[in-house]
Amino acid sequence: MNSANQKHIALISVHGDPAIEIGKEEAGGQNVYVRYVGEALAKLGWQVDMFTRKASADQETIVQHSPNCRTIRLTAGPEEFVPRDNIFGYAPEFVEQLLNFQQESGIKYSLVHTNYWISSWVGMQLKKIQGSKQVHTYHSLGAVKYKSVSTIPLIAKTRLAVEKEVLETAETIVATSPQEKEHMRSLVSTKGNIDIIPCGTDIHKFGSIQREQARAELGINPETKVVFYVGRFDQRKGIETLVRAVGQSKLRGNADLKLIIGGGSRPGHSDGRERDRIESIVDELGMRDFTIFPGRLGDDTLPVYYAAADVCVVPSHYEPFGLVAIEAMASGTPVVASDVGGLQFTVVPEQTGLLAPPKDNAAFAAAIDKILSDPIYAKQLGQAARKRVETKFSWDGVASQLSELYTDLLTQSLEIPVDKTAAVSA
Ligand code: UDP
Repeated sequence: MNSANQKHIALISVHGDPAIEIGKEEAGGQNVYVRYVGEALAKLGWQVDMFTRKASADQETIVQHSPNCRTIRLTAGPEEFVPRDNIFGYAPEFVEQLLNFQQESGIKYSLVHTNYWISSWVGMQLKKIQGSKQVHTYHSLGAVKYKSVSTIPLIAKTRLAVEKEVLETAETIVATSPQEKEHMRSLVSTKGNIDIIPCGTDIHKFGSIQREQARAELGINPETKVVFYVGRFDQRKGIETLVRAVGQSKLRGNADLKLIIGGGSRPGHSDGRERDRIESIVDELGMRDFTIFPGRLGDDTLPVYYAAADVCVVPSHYEPFGLVAIEAMASGTPVVASDVGGLQFTVVPEQTGLLAPPKDNAAFAAAIDKILSDPIYAKQLGQAARKRVETKFSWDGVASQLSELYTDLLTQSLEIPVDKTAAVSA
């Protein structure tokens, strides 16, 4: 290993651009994870380069986030938005471009941390070609995801094979919750090394504003009962369950109720169809007069919405981790979430929020009502939630754990044998 490169780290996120606006089209938790992990690692002394695919000719090729942390956009396939299920064919070009970048910059990445299965394939090629060590975070597991969707995409077989190979060959897989690790073991492979390091959140940004002030800023009365969702518009997110649950809430008609559904793009984007579908359910149930769609919520307003809410609902059908839950918790807002995946790890039932079976409208309605109708209970849950995030899920804590892992891997004397004949083809 070249000691000059010792502190260089490449975070690879082919389809999740860490420098892009979050909340629209396919930009969500993975983008946030890569961006915040990158910035926190840079503060710990790493030289962080985050590689992603250029998805528009207007995008800058290099975005400098801080002196030691930048996003580098490589041209692989057309410079336009490509849905993630169609990106894998451009992965070989991505590898070539990354190798070119290394040659031009004189940096060789001895360690790469890959994100999502498409990037895992890129990392496996770098391992074969130049012996890079690989840490991988799945963000979503095909083996779990395909159980919860009605149409299985054509890419499924390839994805499942790649996900198995990376589990068995990466130096370390980072599971973000014990539940995710269990899924890997039971559904993917019993081989390979898995460490559990959770996702994190910004405990200074979330929790920095009081409920009263937040409500004043948003023009919401102190007595209004506010139910809040934020996230991508994707059927897997279960927004329909939330709408139908609020539709049958006991408080409907008896209290000043507001349902705020944040996130999503303007019509014409790939997530517009789900937004239209959700809006039509809102209309069908006669809920238009108390439902608000504020669209994508940026960094400046998101903490205000969380703080103003009485309850934040995360009704996903499947959720490997679920950043929204810990952001709400960091804001002191109790969470009602689906009893699935990482949400079972972050939300402690009856202590920091409540869990309900996914797609169960009645159970969600009951849980939401329980919190809305008992402000003292809600406050207790919110305070415990904040405490849990402070101790377990701050980005700085998460980045320290990752930094320790990278350092251990880089100082391990065992060199990986290089396969000089490895060809770059998907
Ligand atoms: N998000 C945002 N603005 C929006 C919608 C979403 O900043 O309008 C962020 C949200 O705060 C969270 C991320 O997008 O950090 C979503 O991550 P999560 O893990 O909850 O879901 P994913 O998108 O990975 O399925």
